[in-house]
Amino acid sequence: MSKLALCDTAMNYSPSDRAYIDAHRYMFGELGERVATAAILFRDRLLRPGFVLPLVRLAPVAPYGSCMALSGNSSALDHAQGLAQGIWLYLHEGMFSRHGALHDRVDEVVLHELLHNELMQFGEDAKHKGEPWARRCRELSSRLGLQVRIERPRSIRNGKTVSTGTPAGCLSYTDLARWPQPVLKNGPSLRTRAEAPLCSATVNYTAVHLEGPLSATPVAGR
Ligand SMILES: [Zn+2]
Repeated sequence: MSKLALCDTAMNYSPSDRAYIDAHRYMFGELGERVATAAILFRDRLLRPGFVLPLVRLAPVAPYGSCMALSGNSSALDHAQGLAQGIWLYLHEGMFSRHGALHDRVDEVVLHELLHNELMQFGEDAKHKGEPWARRCRELSSRLGLQVRIERPRSIRNGKTVSTGTPAGCLSYTDLARWPQPVLKNGPSLRTRAEAPLCSATVNYTAVHLEGPLSATPVAGR
């Protein structure tokens, strides 16, 4: 069972925030508004002071691939001059496959990409394998009331082969690369958790159970 405080979560948007929401709604309709309000919520409640919201574009591509989104500040879009900044969020089949969960999946992918973007803005290694990614996933999981051990991935030797993994008992490297989706399988949604810290004294979340097979949800992008 989960107990969440009933508190006023209405946002008082600044004129620039309202313009950000309106722009996304103009371009992408109701789903664009959802993306923009999620991004503003995460900026204000989870990400570091000074973080500047990037433009989030929705792209109806990659229906069969595994990548859910890209943080365009990565080198992956360097060839697309003028379009390399910001985030591309793919309207992947995986976002629509769980009945009624589209908005929750969008929120999760938006936070994942914003975290990449935050690390880039602050000049830190934004890769899943890096220490900054593990550190911020650990900090934000704690902030969201999620009980999960997160350690930096490292090289693990198994006989003559070397692979990348995390220590036993920690979130796996595969799931770390999909954070926060794998740690949100039970309990309140990401948006509910992100809104809750305003009255955190009454938050009492159920521990997240990470053991057992995880769903085959496609991974988020870089
Ligand atoms: Zn990623």
